[in-house]
Formats: sequence, structure tokens, C-alpha cells
Amino acid sequence: MAIIRFKALEETLGRRPVAVETPAATVAAYFGENVFGIDAMRQYLSSDGYGSVLAAIQSGARIERKLADEIAAGMKAWATSKGATHYTHWFQPLTGTTAEKHDAFFEPVEGGRAIEKFGGSQLVQQEPDASSFPSGGIRNTFEARGYTAWDPTSPAFVIDKTLCIPTIFISYTGEALDYKTPLLKALSALDKAAVDVCQYFDKNVTKVIATLGWEQEYFLVDSALYNARPDLAFTGRTLFGASPAKGQQLEDHYFGSIPMRVQAFMRDLEIEAHKLGIPIKTRHNEVAPNQFECAPIFEEINPAVDHNQLLMDIMEKIAQRHNFRVLLHEKPFAGVNGSGKHNNWSMATNTGKNLLSPGKTPKTNLMFLTFFVNIIKAVYDNADLMRAVIASAGNDHRLGANEAPPAIISVFLGSQLSAILDEVEQKVKKDGKMTPEEKTQLKLNIGKIPDILLDNTDRNRTSPFAFTGNKFEFRAVGSSANCSGAMTVINTIMTDQLIRFKKETDALIAKGKDKDEAILQVLRNYIVESKAIRFEGNGYGDEWVKEAKKRGLNNFKTTPEALEAFNNKKFIALFERHNILTAREQHARYEIYLETYVKKIQIEGRLIGDLATNNIIPTAIQYQNRLIENVRGLKEILGVAEFKKAAATQLEMIIEISEHIAGIRTKVDEMTEARKKANAMTDYHEMAEAYCHKVKPYFEVIRKHVDDLEMIVDDEAWPLPKYRELLFTK
Ligand code: ADP
Ligand code: MG
Repeated sequence: MAIIRFKALEETLGRRPVAVETPAATVAAYFGENVFGIDAMRQYLSSDGYGSVLAAIQSGARIERKLADEIAAGMKAWATSKGATHYTHWFQPLTGTTAEKHDAFFEPVEGGRAIEKFGGSQLVQQEPDASSFPSGGIRNTFEARGYTAWDPTSPAFVIDKTLCIPTIFISYTGEALDYKTPLLKALSALDKAAVDVCQYFDKNVTKVIATLGWEQEYFLVDSALYNARPDLAFTGRTLFGASPAKGQQLEDHYFGSIPMRVQAFMRDLEIEAHKLGIPIKTRHNEVAPNQFECAPIFEEINPAVDHNQLLMDIMEKIAQRHNFRVLLHEKPFAGVNGSGKHNNWSMATNTGKNLLSPGKTPKTNLMFLTFFVNIIKAVYDNADLMRAVIASAGNDHRLGANEAPPAIISVFLGSQLSAILDEVEQKVKKDGKMTPEEKTQLKLNIGKIPDILLDNTDRNRTSPFAFTGNKFEFRAVGSSANCSGAMTVINTIMTDQLIRFKKETDALIAKGKDKDEAILQVLRNYIVESKAIRFEGNGYGDEWVKEAKKRGLNNFKTTPEALEAFNNKKFIALFERHNILTAREQHARYEIYLETYVKKIQIEGRLIGDLATNNIIPTAIQYQNRLIENVRGLKEILGVAEFKKAAATQLEMIIEISEHIAGIRTKVDEMTEARKKANAMTDYHEMAEAYCHKVKPYFEVIRKHVDDLEMIVDDEAWPLPKYRELLFTK
């Protein structure tokens, strides 16, 4: 076995960076060249066709059926000019990855001719054989009928000679089977609710879009080493591995050539991403050894989500060109920082205003304050939902762990804005009454917000939802997640909250209250009500856990516990109220998430049993036999007293190895039994709880035995590449 490991190491050491062809032109010259964007559409579509796609993007207008044929023809002509031979509907099923089914543009027929296969109907709707995508019971497998339908608001693109058309994925009965469908609905609901509120401040606002800038963290591992670690290949994380001695990680004599390889990979990734219109700015900061991050310039949420999904896809492909594998798992290595995907979120108007950025006049600052306080209130009321949407088997390792956002949802504002909210609370009474002096003073201070924010230097890296100057940053999202989940929740809860705010404010205005005063009174009450969610301290500390409990904030540490929010009547009603998801669709999702969780833990459990029994135990026995031989030899050549002394350590090691072997064996058997019991359960929630509390606890115990053996057994005999080898540094 160890031969595989050393072969892998040898391969790794021999690698040179793959040469990356740097385009001769500037980024601007090739940015978006593989995207059917505005310029390409103008060139390949008639003005009617172009106008109708644009109207669909801008106002959600329907594209006429007869124009679809023409748009399809234009899209195909463009794609063919880029070398595409196939097309596919590109969608985001709830498995978390993207899916596609490729078809050729032309089909050969007899006589050496070919017939056209791509027209308006192929562009608009497809029926992929979707029986294998999770549907949580909505679509019976035998029906196997899901539809994909074109989403014209996200541009088509060419990748690997295939025209990819972003689509939604719905069942035969019209129910959402993907991430995109509810997201688009939430975005349009938010648009309406936010425009209505903007009307208090600026009549020119007719459209509000929500924006997202994600920051993608990931690890790189050499592909040869990756291939020698079945746990990485099957579960995305290391199930075993002793921590390297301190400092050992930093030894770089082995791996001098690797940073150049990483550079080459990043360069390649950047070029490909730019060609696909993904506006990334690669960053090289690594928190843990071998960990990297890249982030784009923010975009409207729908394309931003698609770009993140696309980036995760191409990362994997490009990494393989450079003999790397990308680890998107939230916690690939124990004892080393995990990976997240910060979701920076804000809203912008058609008048070019960022609604979470204070303006130049007191009026625009009141507008800022309105959206600011409403999102805080929304998070307070729906914290459990925010926790639920980031729950996954992978993220369980990360939330609440060292250097990761806690599982308790709270909001960080910074001391300056906290002070402003406190002031509003004090000066505006419950009934909205203020003395003239208080009114003047408050107006003055609200007017000063932009200035105080300019020197806003306090940042809190431990908060799961932090205000960072002109946006909120949802930091608890896992690195492998589809941002849609988190974004659907945030935009839905904000929609709900803004509608309530408008209603309450209008009611006060109807009673004769001045508009600004009515707004301040409602905001003041929200500030009071949502106070418990505001936390400026250290989110990693134990103190916070106690304090949060006192405040009545939930701390759901595991996925099965967190997912219960999707079963909560309050949240089911919330999604139904705004036509984002029906109760049935939500229940389907709840089941799919539980099932995914169970499957992940199940696979990990099986693999732990397999590797421990078939790789680790035999290796330990082989080494133990060598020790036994050694002891026998010593006995032959030494006298009794000398032998006792000379063989003491070996004898101890022999016993120790036996104890670990026995430990592994017993625990693997017990774990298998626990798994069998869990598998027999019919209720998804019960099964997930069983996997979480009855099966998973064995992982650590078995791992401890294995990791201890790794420290005893001869390095040359050890079958799996070690942490110090996987986590090479500069
Ligand atoms: P960091 O959190 O590392 O300090 P930055 O402040 O550079 O990162 O920003 C992180 C992300 O926030 C970037 O992707 C950036 O485009 C995005 N961002 C900036 N402004 C907005 C906004 N108004 N809406 C959404 N995302 C934004
Ligand atoms: Mg960040």
C-alpha cells in the first residue's frame, strides 16, 4: 500500500507548472467573449428579438413564441461561431451541483445531410430525463418528467464546445425542483416591496434589484495525492490524518515548485472566468496552508449565483489541467481552518442608489436607515430560517468551530451605527413623540451617518451576519453551497418585513402623522423589538453562548436540528404568503436536505469502516509483526536481563498496536450496528437524528485510534498520504 503513497509523492514532486497562455489582449478585449451578452445579441438578433430579450431581463416581460425561433437561430449562429457543436439546458437541481444534458445542434440523416435540431421550442423548454434528481416525493420516479425552462435573465454561454442555456427546473405539475425557481420569485417579490418603500423617499425609483458578491474559499491538493486518499475522492474531506507537528506544516523544502503551480492555476482560472463574463478578482490570501479565495465584483443576484455555480464547475476542470484537485468541502482537514462562502448582500435602485449605503442628504440617510433597520428586524424574526438554510453535513464541522462563525445567528453593526440606533430608540418614544430639540438633534445625527461611517474601522470577523459599510455579509454560508438558498431566504424575509413596515407606516400617516415621524416611530419599535439579535462582541467565545441563551437566541449545532425550521408553520406560511414556495414544495425540500445529510454521513461511515478495516488494520499488523520479529531476535541473542531492557519499548508498542486494532474493530462493528438501526427507520427526521447522534460519534473515536497508529507505525508503511504531504505550503 505504501508504494501507492510514495508513487503519488514522487509524481507530485516531479511536477512543473503547466504553461498558461496569456492572451495578448487586455482583459477588456476578451471579457465575456464566451457569453451571449448584450453585444453578441445586438449582432446576432433582429432588433425585435434583441428588444424582447432585453425587456425580459429588465421587466420580466414574456418573450413571444414566434420570436423564440429567431432568438434560437441567432443564439445558435453565435455559438457555432465560437465552435459549439452541442447545446444544453443548464440547471441547478437540489443536489447542489449543476446538471446538463447535451444535444447536438444538427443530426445526421441519410445521404450525408444533417437536419437542424435547435429551434425556439428547444430553446424555451426541454424535458430532461430527470428521474435521478432529488424531488422529495413530488415527482414520482416512474413519471420521470421534469421540465427545464429558459431563464432569459441569465445569459447563455459557451463552454467545452457546448452552448449552455440557464434554465429553471420544474416538475410536470409545475413544482420547483431546483434552486433557481424560488430565487427568481423572491427577487421579484423583493423588487415590488422595496420599490413601494422607496416611494416614501424618491418617486423616481421604479425598480430595486438585490446584489450579491460572493467570496469563494477552497483548498488545492495535488491530484496524485488526492487519488491516493479514497476519503477525499468519496467524501471531499479527510476522515483520518494525524495533525502534523507544529511547524512541520511550514517545512517547504519538498514543495518548492508548488506556489508556481498554484499561480499558474489561478492565472488560468482567471482567464477562463473572464471569458465567461465572471468578474473575478483572484486573491491569493490563504488562511490555512493550501487554502485560497477568489471573489468577483458584485452583480445582480441571479447572474451572481449562476457565476458562482459556473466558477465551481470550471475550477474543478482547470485544476485538473494543472494536476490539482479542488476541495470545496467546508472542512477538509481537522485542526485546520474550514472554508466558507461569504455572501455580501445589498439592494440597488434603478436610480443608481445602494440602499444599504448612506447618502448625502438627511432624506437619503433616513432611507438608508429604513432598509438597515428592516433587515435587522427581519433577521431577528427569522433567525432560525437563516440557520436552517446554511445547514449541511459539511458546514456542521465548521459552524461553531474555531475561526468559524458560530451556529448562533446574530447581527454585527459596528459601534457607530449601534450608537445611532440607540439614539433613535432614546429620542423617539413608543408613540413617536419627540420634543423639537430632540427632533433637530436626531435629524442632525442621522445626517452625519456618512461621515461617521467614513472612519468606521471596526470590523468583526466572528459575526455570522455583519454590516460592512455598504452591504451585509452573510458569513456562515458553506463553501460548497449554492448561494441561492441563502439568497432566497434573505430576500424573502426582507420582502415580508418591508411589506409590514409599509403597512404600519401608512397606518400612522393615515392617522395624520407626518411621514418622517411615522417612519421613525415604526423603526424605533423595530429597534427595540430586535435588540437581542445585535451582538458586537467575540462570536467565538464561550461567553457568547451563555449570553445568547439568556437572550433567547437559538444555537442549533447540528443539521437535523437546524432543518426543523423548514417544518415550522410560521416559515411555511411566510414562503406561501409571497408565492415563493408552496407548503408541498417546502416539505419536499426539507426531506431532500435531510436525505442528503443522511447519505453523506452514511457514505462517510461506510468508508471509515472500510479504510480502517482494510487499509489501517493490515498495515498495523504488518508493522506489529516486524516488531515481534525484532523482539524474537533480541531474545535469541541477549541474556534475560538485557533482553528485558532492550525489548521493553517494542513490547509496549506491540501491546499498544493490539489495543488500537481491537478498538477499531469493536467500534467499527458497533458503528455498523448503529447504521443498520438507523437505516431501518422510516421517518426522515428520526433517521437523520440517528445518523447524527448514534452513528457519527463513532467517527471521532475510530479516527483517534487510526491517528494514534499513524504516529506509531513506520512512516514508510503508512498507506495514506499524510497531512504534512497534503497540506504543502509555499
Ligand atoms: P472583504 O470581506 O474580504 O473585506 P470586500 O470588502 O473587498 O471583502 O468585498 C467583498 C465582496 O463584497 C466583493 O465581492 C464585493 O464585490 C462585494 N460587494 C461590495 N459592494 C457590494 C454591494 N453593494 N452588494 C453586494 N456585494 C457587494
Ligand atoms: Mg468577507
